[in-house]
Amino acid sequence: MSLKRPPIKRLALLLVTVVPALAWAVVKPVRVVWPEFAGVTCVSETICVDDPSQVQQAQALYSEAVAFVSRDVAAVEGAARVIFCATQACADGFGLGARSAVTVGTLGSVIGPKAWKPFYVRHELIHYVQGKTLGVIPLLMKPAWFVEGMAYGLSQDPRRPLAEPFESQRAKFIAWYKGVGKEQLWFEGHKL
Ligand SMILES: [Zn+2]
Repeated sequence: MSLKRPPIKRLALLLVTVVPALAWAVVKPVRVVWPEFAGVTCVSETICVDDPSQVQQAQALYSEAVAFVSRDVAAVEGAARVIFCATQACADGFGLGARSAVTVGTLGSVIGPKAWKPFYVRHELIHYVQGKTLGVIPLLMKPAWFVEGMAYGLSQDPRRPLAEPFESQRAKFIAWYKGVGKEQLWFEGHKL
């Protein structure tokens, strides 16, 4: 029996040390969990910035988006963390690539330097609320027109038309939403 323990211990050590290290290196968005290690400063549980001189703007965008999404979509519950990157280097540190912003389940969102606008922050918070309300794994199974269409459609994104496939996804969601209404949004969304 005792002969079997060292390999298990090694496996455990591998899982505990190497896998997180790999995830940290390869799946950069997981860095939203420990943004301080990615070189940003968290001024609260929910707001982090790479450029402390822009913290007031970040706080204003965050407050506006939380109020907007809570009113128009669903209450923003729990600690919805948003990392505001003023530089592309910061955004790249979280693996943003060509994306303007990203939300990683309910772990947190990253706002890239081009996305410091109310509708972008609302969009990412809508993804957070989707994860909280439907569950992160079930959300992965939902159709893109529902997930992205809602985020584009209910954030009051002013861009018309959006690049495809997002324009079609938004149009499909809005048509569906007109029949469903705000009250039944999540009840009907669960069924999709
Ligand atoms: Zn989106």
